[in-house]
Amino acid sequence: MALVRERRQLNLRLPLPPISDRRFSLPSVTTTVATSGGISAADLEKLNVLGCGNGGVVYRVRHKNTGDLYALKTVNGDMDPILTRQLMREMEILRRTDSPYVVRCHGIFEKQVVGEVSILMEYMDGGTLESLRGAVTEQRLAGFARQILKGLSYLHALKIVHRDIKPANLLLNSKDEVKIADFGVSKILVRSLDSCNSYVGTCAYMSPERFDSESSGGGSDVYAGDIWSFGLMMLELLVGHFPLLPPGQRPDWATLMCAVCFGEPPRAPEVCSEEFRSFVECCLRKDSSKRWTASQLLGHPFLREDL
Ligand code: ATP
Ligand code: MG
Repeated sequence: MALVRERRQLNLRLPLPPISDRRFSLPSVTTTVATSGGISAADLEKLNVLGCGNGGVVYRVRHKNTGDLYALKTVNGDMDPILTRQLMREMEILRRTDSPYVVRCHGIFEKQVVGEVSILMEYMDGGTLESLRGAVTEQRLAGFARQILKGLSYLHALKIVHRDIKPANLLLNSKDEVKIADFGVSKILVRSLDSCNSYVGTCAYMSPERFDSESSGGGSDVYAGDIWSFGLMMLELLVGHFPLLPPGQRPDWATLMCAVCFGEPPRAPEVCSEEFRSFVECCLRKDSSKRWTASQLLGHPFLREDL
């Protein structure tokens, strides 16, 4: 079984797949500056750290001339080539995407002398959905769900599987807009039969077929894994704790694997609306072929604006 690197609660990161799993070519990054909009690294000043991820640091930065704020994700590639590869994946995907539901990339910088690679992104000033666990109404959650599903539907149409949908990777701004971020373990499928059940991402949110690809024959709908993670996240945001374990219990890989593969899928509590309970059930079907797609979920009664 895959090695598990234990990190913070619910952040059980798994290693990236081997190079052979990579079916797209790495972008060729030139020295120091490669941007749209002509922003160079020298134009930016670092203000503070927004988050420390899996080896990279995300800074809030300001453009010295315009005063505009951005987020700059930086990885020192000389220290860990795996992290550089992760950043390369993210760069490749951010370059291909142009959607109001996916965090925008404004440029990519490389300091070859020190082996540092950075992605300049739009700054999301509302933090991540993690901070809203247990503090959202169904109505607000439906607003988030519409945006996230439009983002997933867009990505899936481009044959991009995110593979790490979780509250900490959904960014919020002061306009209550939610955008999908962190494509470090995502994958672009080149052929329609490509599988992608590799142990990557955060295993707490991994679907049954990704834990146990043999039982699904490896032929499951690869996009359905993102829907499972999304459904679990929706339930977590509403009930305020990770739904597969009792509140306060620290997850470990074995407990999670048993809960996901052998337990019944979690359900929304009875106090929730019928629409929300049905919505969660459509996302958390153990059989990936029966799980609704992002586009189908956008038509679910829970997301009807007039309710
Ligand atoms: P992890 O391994 O924990 O998933 P990571 O190295 O992949 O992290 P990200 O998830 O992209 O990095 O970013 C880490 C944190 O930095 C986020 O959880 C968020 O708090 C903050 N962050 C990232 N991008 C932005 C952004 N565009 N605007 C505001 N904050 C951001
Ligand atoms: Mg992240």
